[in-house]
Amino acid sequence: MPDFRVLLVDGIDPAGVEVIRRSKSIEPIVQEKISREKLFEIIGDFDGIIIRSSTNVDRELMQKARKLKVVGRAGVGVDNVDLDAATEYGILVMNSPGGSTTTTAEHTIAMLFALARNIPQAYKSLQDHKWEKNRFKGVELAGKTLGVIGLGRIGSEVARKCQAMGMNVIAFDPYINPDAHLSSGLELVELRTIFAEADFVTVHVPLADGTRNLIDKDAIAQMKDGVRILNCARGGIINEDDLYDGLKTGKVAGAAFDVFETEPNTDSPLLRLENFIATPHLGASTVEAQRKVSEDICRQVSDFLMKNTVDGALNFPRLEAGTVERYQHFLDLGARLATFIAQICEGRMQTVSIRYSGEVCEMNLNYLTSVIVRSLLVPVLREGVNLVNAIHVAKQRGIKIQETRVPAPENFTNLIVIELKTDVESHRVSGTVFTDKLPRIVNIDGYPLEVVPRGNMIFFTNNDKPGVIGAIGGVLGRCNVNIAGMHLGREYEGGKALALLLVDHPVNNDVIGQFRQVPNVLSAKVVHV
Ligand code: NAD
Repeated sequence: MPDFRVLLVDGIDPAGVEVIRRSKSIEPIVQEKISREKLFEIIGDFDGIIIRSSTNVDRELMQKARKLKVVGRAGVGVDNVDLDAATEYGILVMNSPGGSTTTTAEHTIAMLFALARNIPQAYKSLQDHKWEKNRFKGVELAGKTLGVIGLGRIGSEVARKCQAMGMNVIAFDPYINPDAHLSSGLELVELRTIFAEADFVTVHVPLADGTRNLIDKDAIAQMKDGVRILNCARGGIINEDDLYDGLKTGKVAGAAFDVFETEPNTDSPLLRLENFIATPHLGASTVEAQRKVSEDICRQVSDFLMKNTVDGALNFPRLEAGTVERYQHFLDLGARLATFIAQICEGRMQTVSIRYSGEVCEMNLNYLTSVIVRSLLVPVLREGVNLVNAIHVAKQRGIKIQETRVPAPENFTNLIVIELKTDVESHRVSGTVFTDKLPRIVNIDGYPLEVVPRGNMIFFTNNDKPGVIGAIGGVLGRCNVNIAGMHLGREYEGGKALALLLVDHPVNNDVIGQFRQVPNVLSAKVVHV
């Protein structure tokens, strides 16, 4: 009996299905074409779904997907997945962008040549039985300047290939460290330099608020007369009306698009222009890319379900293979501290401040923070919260999360401090892991102590007066509760004190009620970690 079931739709390449099948614990169910009604009917049985661009994974579907843990998109675009809803429902969304890098870069180069040598127009003319040698005189690429906007996976591959073709390549990407490209001979410049110097401009950025209409009439006005422009990234990055005007006046000698603002698109006025060429979003459409993105996403989804590895997630921090095992002691410590503090704090949570110092900073702290926040919320929300939606759920409830990272050790080689403020009180608990890998609380509210938090506990505060511990022992004895361990901490002699009692069995509210009546006991709470 497999542990998980994954549904593969939209004609996922069979190579990926094989990857899942090899894992044995996951049963892949392939449905090439599936109606929305049928999908609604069966989605509740699946732990994962793998899609391409056709199937809509929206809020309505997620509401029916009781067991769904992961949505995998073979390829890049996730316009058909409601990311916010997925995060709310605690469903991980992954894509596999790397698989189409070479293919899309090659398509861009194909468009570059086609644009420079008027290949589509010349072929069309031939089909019309014309032999127009003079009409389609082109330009060479070698020696020309190519301006690459966006130097990510595809942009850098295009840049490298074009350098090899003898082009002078300049690039603009405000989020890339220029040193990373020092050895490649690639010059990183400002956007205005690209506009001023490039003979060909190609965009390889995502479509976002900052990149929509990145090339508009103002940008085109700054470009060289006779510039040629390519978009094999996303429609909307180049303003189609402004490009139309530029092509019409000849300011722009030619343009090549693989993508349009609205797709499918067969009516764009651009398609009526002689100096505009286009393909119907073919960038990633090769046999190899479809196989690769399918294999990649199926491996990512099965690694997530079986090994907790998170790669290529769009709504969760990256988690390399083995991370959970390697840092299990810190994850365990964080979870126990959070579970502990959530139970000793009364009132509505308002602010959680987490301070990490020392060795713990070597791990992916975004993940650890999710673990901590989930553990804080679980006593209140139970199964409504998981690692994917923990931070989102906290924010939705108005809980502020603050995080400080101090890589240098502070008193301990590793330390996690969680401070929780509610509308009625605030507590702070610190913990560390020694070489025995056991989680230890080393400080509560400024009182040093040392305890491995586990099982049933009673946490109480009192005035440091003689007789309190004896009276507490009497209450527990009368209630037949056996003490397994006792840890005390105090401000100073006669000041405030606190204690953590480890008990063998769960205690009920009646015992806690009796505790609170002991003279000089200030508060008492049951804790289970
Ligand atoms: P990527 O994330 O690896 O690279 C994008 C780069 O753009 C990053 O380096 C980022 O720093 C940079 N960037 C972001 N905002 C910028 C700005 N305002 N100015 C300059 N640079 C900016 O992505 P990728 O895999 O290389 O994909 C690039 C584009 O190609 C994406 O839009 C993707 O959707 C598209 N794509 C299209 C097809 C297709 O079929 N035509 C296939 C795959 C990818």
